Amino acid sequence: MGITQPSKLMGSRKLRQELEAAESKLRAKTLELEQAQEELAVQEEDRIRLETRLRLLEKAVDTVNMGVTITDLQGKIIYVNPADARMHGYDVEELIGQEARLYASKAVRSETAGNAAEPWIRRRIDATKDGHPFPVRLISDRVHNTHLQPMATVTICEDIREQEHIREALVRRDNILKAVGLAAERLLTDASWEESVEEVLERLGRATGVDLIYMSVVKEESPFTSGSSILSWTTPGGGEVEERFRQGLGLPDRIALFACWKDRLVAGQTLQGRVSELPDQEREILDAWGVRSFAVVPIFVESSLRGYLSLEDGDGDREWLSVEIEALKTAARTFGASIMTWQAKITIALSEEKYRDLLDNATDLIQSVSPDGRFQYVNRAWKEALGYSDQEVQQLKLWDVVRQQPTEEDDVVQSILSVDGQGPIEAIFVTRDGAEIFVEGSINSRFVDGLPVATRGIFRDITERKLVDRMKQEFISTVSHELRTPLTSIIASLGLLDSGRMSGDPERMQELVAVALRNSNRLLQLINNLLDQQKLEDGKMTFKDEHVEVVPIVRETLDDIRSFAEMLNIELSLEVADEGLCARGDHDRIGQILSNLLSNAIKFSPPGDVVTLSCRSARDRIIITVADNGPGIPADFQGRLFEKFTQFDASATRRSGGSGLGLSIARGLAEGMHGRIVLDEDVARGATFHVELPSTQPTAAE
Ligand code: ADP
Repeated sequence: MGITQPSKLMGSRKLRQELEAAESKLRAKTLELEQAQEELAVQEEDRIRLETRLRLLEKAVDTVNMGVTITDLQGKIIYVNPADARMHGYDVEELIGQEARLYASKAVRSETAGNAAEPWIRRRIDATKDGHPFPVRLISDRVHNTHLQPMATVTICEDIREQEHIREALVRRDNILKAVGLAAERLLTDASWEESVEEVLERLGRATGVDLIYMSVVKEESPFTSGSSILSWTTPGGGEVEERFRQGLGLPDRIALFACWKDRLVAGQTLQGRVSELPDQEREILDAWGVRSFAVVPIFVESSLRGYLSLEDGDGDREWLSVEIEALKTAARTFGASIMTWQAKITIALSEEKYRDLLDNATDLIQSVSPDGRFQYVNRAWKEALGYSDQEVQQLKLWDVVRQQPTEEDDVVQSILSVDGQGPIEAIFVTRDGAEIFVEGSINSRFVDGLPVATRGIFRDITERKLVDRMKQEFISTVSHELRTPLTSIIASLGLLDSGRMSGDPERMQELVAVALRNSNRLLQLINNLLDQQKLEDGKMTFKDEHVEVVPIVRETLDDIRSFAEMLNIELSLEVADEGLCARGDHDRIGQILSNLLSNAIKFSPPGDVVTLSCRSARDRIIITVADNGPGIPADFQGRLFEKFTQFDASATRRSGGSGLGLSIARGLAEGMHGRIVLDEDVARGATFHVELPSTQPTAAE
């Protein structure tokens, strides 16, 4: 056919065009498809990548130690990781679909309200499935969709039991150490050790929060004076443990417990833990007290075990952390040191007391003088002898009490203060009242770093001895004078008679014999006095115990002494109220007493004067009074009047004869007959002596 029809031509072009269009469409579709395929491939890759990531994440969340929960907006758990379920004591499956609130402990609610807009952190007490509470820290965050709408909440949960324990232990340790600080301060310095122990134990109890804390110190050598070896302090409301302790139950068991622990404590070990884990015997003892948890820390003094500090609690789960135990050991060391210090204090106090007692009870006068003359110490005997009070002694200087000597060589003050002064030295101390005390003693000095800090002196009061010495001296001169005077006249008289020169003068010879006789009697009298004095002192004087009429004795004595009175021109006068006065005693001894008193009265009366003797009865006594108008007895001599060998004015007595024995013998005789002699202190002139004797009524037999 070779001929192309125009219509036919037009139709094929259109077809081609259509074909081309379809073709390009196809190409475009293919391209689209290819693109779509490419996209798909990319998406698939993304999906796989995401899925892998998700799996990894899930794996991580599943294996992580922290709890992770995802809850929906209604608070229902849509995901929980095994750690979280484990922590709370559940299986994962049990939890899905449950309310997350079931975790929270019934006892304690959440502490911090969350802020939903941001991730928030809070501490909460959760409870396990079987009800055990434990602290957790929670971090929560909301998850949003692409439209930023909240979809769920993710919560990470951390068990903070351990951290809290550590924090608590650190607080406890700090409190224990604070209590120990106080212990050191109080126990080592305070006067009242026991009170301080109580206070420190109380603080330790509070710091550790235990039911009971007590310290047991071995009795021997313990500083306790009360006799108890256990000091305790129990926390208020300490429950069963405290209650039993307070009642003092099972104290022997405690001692048995100490015996079980002793070896380990001696080795310095600290024992602590749960009672349930102890060996039978120990467990039973503590169980009986309701103790479930305990800690025992040994207390050492120097290096020997002296006691222990015991902490007990009714909570079996109470944990003893090492920081706490270390702090308790420090407390125990402080107690140990305090026991030592206290013991040392007591020992020092006791020995001080002993020496003070020794010094204070010494009869010697003991003093310690500083180089400036002040008294550092004087003992009781010193104060009593010198009559000063403690306060007054503080104001005194050595020279206030030592009689100054006229020359510098004899300066006793200087020799007492001198550093190399040695005993024995003699000094005269002057009492507060101005009286003199003769002392004899020794001194030595105390040096510190080569310098004298005190001169110590110990003196004996030798006043008495000095007086006796003086009296002896006087006695010897009196007695020798008394012996020599009559002897001289006896010898002179006998000599004259012997010479024969008087043979032609019998009257003169008679006179000489009389002189010799009188003086012999005087000698005999003196010797008799000496013998009587000695007999009285030895208790060997004998007395007749008879019923005697007093007036006849008085008259006899007056008759005997009349010639002596006449010789000195003294008149004797007798006043008798009742002639029949009777006394119980010894006739001769009564006469001897009266004779002594009368001879003194005559001797000391001025010539021409009267000596009066009177007798009367007064109740159950007979009183014989001898009175004169002489010089009387000086007041300061009256106290010593009746002592032997005492004479107020020896030379005056000597003139008239006398040995200082008359009154001493008279008193001894009166007392030997159950009577007495008193000097009448009320009379204005002269001396008046009263002799009192027991009165009697004559019996039919006598
Ligand atoms: P003597 O034998 O020396 O007289 P006494 O013991 O009898 O000893 O007396 C002691 C001292 O007491 C006398 O030396 C004298 O100082 C004093 N005295 C005793 N009697 C009297 C008196 N009647 N008047 C004064 N002084 C007296």
